Amino acid sequence: MFQDAAAFRFVGGRVSVDFTATHGLRWRDPSVERIPAPADLARWFIAAGLTDLTVPVSAPTLRGARALREALYRLMRGRVCQEPPDRRAIEVVNRWAAKAPPAVQLTADGSAKRLVEPSAGSLLALVARDGVDLLGDPHADRLRECSSDTCTLLYLDTTRAGSRRWCAMEVCGSRDKMARYRRRGAV
Ligand SMILES: [Zn+2]
Repeated sequence: MFQDAAAFRFVGGRVSVDFTATHGLRWRDPSVERIPAPADLARWFIAAGLTDLTVPVSAPTLRGARALREALYRLMRGRVCQEPPDRRAIEVVNRWAAKAPPAVQLTADGSAKRLVEPSAGSLLALVARDGVDLLGDPHADRLRECSSDTCTLLYLDTTRAGSRRWCAMEVCGSRDKMARYRRRGAV
């Protein structure tokens, strides 16, 4: 799992948190851009379960998507670090959240919901609205950053005790355990 640095990560618990993970290993130079091309953003929409369709993405929309992503990241990480929110980031998120999300309708048999001709912009509006819902809710205090020094993934800790330390136990958690085991062995 997670062998491929370019693979999308879905450990955030919310679509807006997972969107911030399309930029990975933020501490590293270069970091990992997981949506380098417009087609990658279209792939992410599908992987995130927002749509089954490959929506057209233009280069300007990709640029806007990345600006939204970084604004969400700044606000979410600021919450983790209990820093005052970045006003410019708030403006960017609000601008996207003000756009119309895709129209929805019931399928012919009335048993399922589907989006009506979603566009990249309307799907990004959904992501931004999810970010507003999350950051504007007391639950945002449960935002965390993975405890690994080499991982910058954010996630929403939904454990009852608020004790989740890793983006994924089987990745960063077990890596940490092994490192501690090795250190102990060396002493
Ligand atoms: Zn991690």
